[in-house]
Order: sequence, then structure tokens, then C-alpha cells
Amino acid sequence: MRTLDVEWAKDWMRRSSATLTEHRMELIDLDRAIGDGDHGENMARGFAVVAQRIDETPPDDVAGVFKLVAQTLMAKVGGAAGPLYGTAFMRAAKASEGDLDAAWVGTLCEAALDGIVARGKATTGEKTMVDAWTPAIAAAKAAADAGRSPAQTLRAAAAAAAEGAEATIPLRATKGRASYLGERSIGHKDPGSTSTAYLLACAADAAEAAESRGR
Ligand code: ADP
Ligand code: MG
Repeated sequence: MRTLDVEWAKDWMRRSSATLTEHRMELIDLDRAIGDGDHGENMARGFAVVAQRIDETPPDDVAGVFKLVAQTLMAKVGGAAGPLYGTAFMRAAKASEGDLDAAWVGTLCEAALDGIVARGKATTGEKTMVDAWTPAIAAAKAAADAGRSPAQTLRAAAAAAAEGAEATIPLRATKGRASYLGERSIGHKDPGSTSTAYLLACAADAAEAAESRGR
């Protein structure tokens, strides 16, 4: 049984649409505090279109799902997050060949981070989504090395991303719109790290559902 197949990828995106809609106001409020307040709306709307397109024209492999996500986010999501996540999923698509096992989860997170860094030139500690993806990679690698299943590996990555998002609170933003606030960005959680943690949690939920169906 292969957990991380096209059905998983489609389920991941449907769950992301539902979760980002559910947390739309929270992401709006986080972005209102240190940005322009559009992150929740952008993400909820973008992933709603992703979910709709996946049902209308279902891709036939994982790379196809990620390409659809990338193209949709680039076209439909304004602000910084659209191109950043768009590039992340484009790189993820390119990294989705061969055996998509537990060890690949680290490769997936690494590809996403590479895309975000190529686009946004941020490094860790600048209070951006880089602070969620970076610990996710390390956690995924450690979990896969310890023999965890794909779902457990994704869960470890999601937990590390959520911790990374929390750890942005005391940071001063030096990239993106929040950097205009300087010292006043301190004390608020970064919206993009928060949405990253939700996306990875949805990937883990979808993998858990696939693993329990396969049992
Ligand atoms: P905008 O700031 O244009 O309104 P969004 O509100 O959709 O865009 O997204 C803001 C999020 O984008 C931030 O919370 C941060 O995580 C992320 N971000 C902004 N600039 C960068 C960057 N240069 N590198 C990585 N992530 C960034
Ligand atoms: Mg914004």
C-alpha cells in the first residue's frame, strides 16, 4: 500500500480548503496586527479554487496536483503569499517523482522551502513562513530515520511547523510587509507560518486517513 499517492494529495488539498476557511478570521486577525489583513481571505479563496479545480479536472499524479496548486495560487492569491506558496508547490511538484515514502516527506518540505527562499530571499529568524518550513524539514528527516510511517512523519513535520510558528511571536520582522513595523512587529505571530502549519497538519490528516483505510 502506498499512502502518499494522488488520492492523498487531492485529499490534502480538500482538507486545506476546509481548514483555511475555518481559520480564515484567525489568519485575517494575525495579518491585521502586523500586515494588511488579507492573508486569511487570500488563502481561503485560493484553496477553495484549488479544491474546485481538483474535482473538475482531477490530476492523475501527485506532481499534477501540486502543479495545479502552484498555478492556481500564482493566479488567484494576491499579496506575497500567492507567489511564495506557488513557487513552493511548483518545486514540490518537481520533487514528486520516484518513491513517495516517509523519507520523501523531508524532500517535499525541503523543495517547498527552496522555492520560498528563491522567491522571497528570507532566512530563519526573519518572522516569515521560512520559520515554519525549516524546522519541519528537520523533524521530517528525524521521524523518517526513526522508521516512522508517512503519516507519522507528516505529523512530526506539522508539529514542528506549529512550534516554529509560535516561535515567531518574539521575533522582529525583517522581511515582507510586517518589516515596515520594525519593533512593533514583536509580540505577534506570523500569519504565513501559521498557514504553513495548517497546511502541513492537513497533509498529515490526509495521510492518517489513507493509512487507516489501508489497514
Ligand atoms: P502580503 O504581506 O503581501 O499582504 P500575505 O498577507 O498574503 O501577503 O502573506 C504574508 C506572509 O507572507 C507573511 O506572514 C510571511 O510569512 C510571508 N512572507 C512575506 N514576505 C516573505 C519573504 N520575503 N519570504 C518568506 N515569506 C514571506
Ligand atoms: Mg497581507
